[in-house]
Amino acid sequence: MPDPSVRTVSKWPPHDVTMLSDDDDILTDMRVGEEIFIANKDINLDNPPATGDLYWKGVIDSMHRIPKKKGCMFIVKWFYSKEDVVTLLKMDTNTKVAVDAFGEHELTLSDHKDVIDSLTCQSDIIVHVFNDNDYLREHIEKGWWYQRIILKTNNPSARVKGVNLHCTCQTPYNPNVDIQRFCIQCSHWYDADCLRRASDGSVLPFTRSESILVKVAKMPIIRGCLKGQDNWSLVGSGPSVVKAKEWVHALETDDNFILPPEWRDQLVKNLLDFVADTTFTTFPCPECGEDTLI
Ligand SMILES: [Zn+2]
Ligand SMILES: [Zn+2]
Repeated sequence: MPDPSVRTVSKWPPHDVTMLSDDDDILTDMRVGEEIFIANKDINLDNPPATGDLYWKGVIDSMHRIPKKKGCMFIVKWFYSKEDVVTLLKMDTNTKVAVDAFGEHELTLSDHKDVIDSLTCQSDIIVHVFNDNDYLREHIEKGWWYQRIILKTNNPSARVKGVNLHCTCQTPYNPNVDIQRFCIQCSHWYDADCLRRASDGSVLPFTRSESILVKVAKMPIIRGCLKGQDNWSLVGSGPSVVKAKEWVHALETDDNFILPPEWRDQLVKNLLDFVADTTFTTFPCPECGEDTLI
């Protein structure tokens, strides 16, 4: 029997919490607003896949008791992956540009609702919201699901909302391809490639005697396609650079300041090795002219 329609189910008695048991019989309570994996024909539940890639993903929009029967139906809003959008929807031009810039594990929350049986719901997941204008966003690691933009699936063409355009070239940030630098003075991200085209730049003068902490404080706020920097490259070095700048300033100006003994752990993992191994180039900011894009 096909699932009843969204319209029908939305009139059924609402439900606040549904308890679901997983493979190990651990109960999870599912609530409206929660993000979920949903089993589909590609999933063999006797031998479930190790990663979440194959599952459909959605948000519980509402939950309803099935009249005169046991059980519960969810109305979900679907998350679309890049592949879903490309294969299932006709896109307008801006949407195509935005979807081309999707990173790995990026999803977009749609307005497309369906009814699912609560029993096909596997587990709750987290889809992190990422505002890519923000240079202080704490890390989103490789393999974590995240979303930046909202998808409107209405005819005739799908449209997106919430796309940020960056740099002098006014394009979305593509973490698979772009390396970007942030200017604190004017609060904008710029593509390293566009900066290089506009100016020759000069090598950032780290001296041998400078400590690794000072080097972090002086490094650019940088993000994007940086090899081996899986747990911070998507969101950037901003939080660590700002912390290091504060510590260095305090060490220079406050005789009573003591560096926290575990300061290294407060910076994102692998950043110290990255800074030790990398030569940075300085560029003038295209907007404010400050020589801050080191
Ligand atoms: Zn650019
Ligand atoms: Zn600037």
